[in-house]
Amino acid sequence: MEMHTATHKSDTERHTRKKVAYVAVLVLVIILISVIVASLVHRKILADSSGGDAPWHRPRLPKSLAPYHYRLELKPNLEDSVFTGTVEISLHCLAPTRYIVLHANLLNITEGSVFLKSLRGEILTLRDWFLYPKNEFLVLESKTSLETGRRYVIGMKFQGKLLEDMRGFYRSFYSANSTHNDRRYLAVSQFAPMDARKAFPCFDEPAMKATFDVTLVHQSEYTALSNMPIRQSEVRSEGWVADHFYTTLRMPTYLLAFVIADFGYKEGVTGIHDIVASPQMRVPAMENWGLVVSHENRMLYAPKLSPVWKKEEVASMIAHELAHMWFGNLVTPEWWGGVWLKEGLATWAAVRGVDAAEPTWRVKERYFVQSLHQILPVDSSSLSHPLQLTVTGPQDVTRGSSLMRMLNTILGTAFRKGILKYLQKYKYSNAGQNDLWACLTEVVQEDGRTDVQVKEVMDTWTLQMGFPVVTVTRDYSNGRVTATQRHFLYDPEVNVPDSLRNYVWQVPLTFMSRESGNTSLGNGDTSRGNGTVSIPGIFWLRKREEDFRLSVDASSRLLANINQTGYYRVNYDVRNWQLLAEDLDTVTFQNIPTQSRAGLIDDAFNLVRSGHLAPEVALNLSRYLTREREYLPWLAAERAFGYLHMMLADTKSSSDLKWL
Ligand SMILES: [Zn+2]
Repeated sequence: MEMHTATHKSDTERHTRKKVAYVAVLVLVIILISVIVASLVHRKILADSSGGDAPWHRPRLPKSLAPYHYRLELKPNLEDSVFTGTVEISLHCLAPTRYIVLHANLLNITEGSVFLKSLRGEILTLRDWFLYPKNEFLVLESKTSLETGRRYVIGMKFQGKLLEDMRGFYRSFYSANSTHNDRRYLAVSQFAPMDARKAFPCFDEPAMKATFDVTLVHQSEYTALSNMPIRQSEVRSEGWVADHFYTTLRMPTYLLAFVIADFGYKEGVTGIHDIVASPQMRVPAMENWGLVVSHENRMLYAPKLSPVWKKEEVASMIAHELAHMWFGNLVTPEWWGGVWLKEGLATWAAVRGVDAAEPTWRVKERYFVQSLHQILPVDSSSLSHPLQLTVTGPQDVTRGSSLMRMLNTILGTAFRKGILKYLQKYKYSNAGQNDLWACLTEVVQEDGRTDVQVKEVMDTWTLQMGFPVVTVTRDYSNGRVTATQRHFLYDPEVNVPDSLRNYVWQVPLTFMSRESGNTSLGNGDTSRGNGTVSIPGIFWLRKREEDFRLSVDASSRLLANINQTGYYRVNYDVRNWQLLAEDLDTVTFQNIPTQSRAGLIDDAFNLVRSGHLAPEVALNLSRYLTREREYLPWLAAERAFGYLHMMLADTKSSSDLKWL
């Protein structure tokens, strides 16, 4: 047994040694192959471990080069799901560099096609070029340094896949009739925010604006669309047609658009604009300059079949995308953190546009209050974030447009003038919120108003998260009012990140009493000199607590935040809540404007939810609803009761919840 084992052992040893030798040879071969392959490939894809402070290691493009013109040709093959292309990019050199860093993602650059030349056409030697996938970069290394003030041209051929991922230049499909075997393909682009680099090598940042000469090559039975009209169509071999488009305006890469489809074409009312309905899309609609692409669900309206609200939805979508032609396309954010500004302005302008086109829909009155009631609850959590940080979703668009409405109320006609100034000053360029605040402040000062420094005001609303609840406490014996502000949170005990402004806002407080009536605000005449605030007017609450005199009769109710134009909630002392409830429960309740009635309901029930107000106060206020015939207050009530219903469901109290 032992001997046998020994023999066996030595057998095993021999076996093992053989195996080791075999593995060693295999490893050697693998290493050798890898070295050879690596030496061939390394210059194409640079390993991440190379370390150092090279320009391609930083996430943002270097500022040494600025593209100013692209010549781009793309030829998608819809059946094989691939595309080929060529690009030539003209560049200004702003600082000496040997490296040309631009974006390319999931593209194959054709070996031997990459070149660098001077504007006059002299070819300059490239030492190397490689892809750096970690930052989605393509890097060209010139033998000699590019010189400041001179212009250069780079170019290359490339190929990519026409995936069905709805990003970059992608393939979409539809069925011409209901049978599945009649699938038709189309090629569509969706470049925002960072997928132009998946369609062609480019400087894919919003501040890298340039003009574009686009050529789309397609089979003759298809139609090609881009941002500009077709300048010339050229017939090529084997049924291919090359459509050359007019040069675009100066614009960022994310607004370029291509569509190749066999759709019919309908001459629209917008004249210079194309709007295409696409069957598959990542976003509801995209504001490409001159070629809006929308998801077909958001676009199609059948007069006898679709519900009425659908018509309003389509109109609002088109108005929003067209408003972007100024807010975003003409003046573009420097970087993605500034997106809320273009979204907020476009939404603000679109609501006005739809309201002007179809006043009977009362969009302006309804949209803002409705969206405020949606967004305030989202922004009442410790998990919210400052608006300026990033746009994370539709809620930031709503926050942005709500702040624009507030600012419009504060500034009156100066708001419109300031926006025009901003568009004029930064057209075909980039700008951020500070640029807009500066233009608005200039206009306000030209008008002789000194109470508003727009930047100081707006920084408190955009650089910290959330919003305040303002508590208005009246002294009925002497007419004095104390206003205090506090970060509104459903859970007041929760920890929130520190804020440089300590969660104190510059709050434009507006008031109306029974005597002051339903007067709209003018340019906001704040008169604090004699210690009495005139009604109507704006009182600026800039500290945590301020106290002032208001000319209101002790028996009259006081209402703050007229029409709920401010992005904040209001609480009152119990007696004023009682006066408000009494006033609502009379035949003249409509003296309080509809938007304010909706605001009172929404504020009261949300203050109950956060523990600021006793439930009976809110319920008492809601009694007047038996008289209410307007949509907005009922919408607020429906939301409030829905929440109560949800919280009380399956509890002992649920049977006590009675509906009138
Ligand atoms: Zn938008």
